[in-house]
Amino acid sequence: MTIGVLALQGDVREHVHALGLVGAEARPIRRPGEVDEIDALVIPGGESTTMSKLAVSFGLLDPIRKRIADGMPVYGSCAGMIMLATTVLDGRPDQESFAGIDMTVRRNAFGRQVDSFEAPVRIDGVDGGDFHAVFIRAPWVEEVGPDVVVLGRVTAGPAAGRIVAVRQGNLLATAFHPELTGDLRVHRYFVESVRDAR
Ligand code: GLN
Repeated sequence: MTIGVLALQGDVREHVHALGLVGAEARPIRRPGEVDEIDALVIPGGESTTMSKLAVSFGLLDPIRKRIADGMPVYGSCAGMIMLATTVLDGRPDQESFAGIDMTVRRNAFGRQVDSFEAPVRIDGVDGGDFHAVFIRAPWVEEVGPDVVVLGRVTAGPAAGRIVAVRQGNLLATAFHPELTGDLRVHRYFVESVRDAR
């Protein structure tokens, strides 16, 4: 089983490392041909407008959309969450996404004062207590369609109640960055869901 990490931009290495620590074989991918060689995909944090542009110019938009439609498991963190959303608010007018998860996300939603902050998040299906989540110019989820399961909300602080983790079928997204904290539970959860999907 090989998990690709979309390596156009963002914290690719951290995801490859975290996936390795939970026993998955992971490698960066950036060419359309590589999209057919993987069993699952991780879209890292970074900058979704840049990632969108590069996805278009590298010819990755349609191949990845097609794999998503065929059921390939994908996990997106932060910018990766934005890349998975059907609707993006406060994006660029020409911003594209893979549009896998039926949800509306707002970019940079937590505002300038909290460009970067940490908050506890409870995630359904992930044992071991609240997740100590790191948010960096993060989006939040404003609306979800009927097929989307809300997995996690901020549990305390000014952003309490905000939706920051969701799942729709084989697609998983978090507004925060588990790849930066050494807490491997989200990566383990994803890798287990990839094994189940197979
Ligand atoms: N603000 C970024 C964007 O809109 C996401 C930030 C991140 O991935 N840490 O793409």
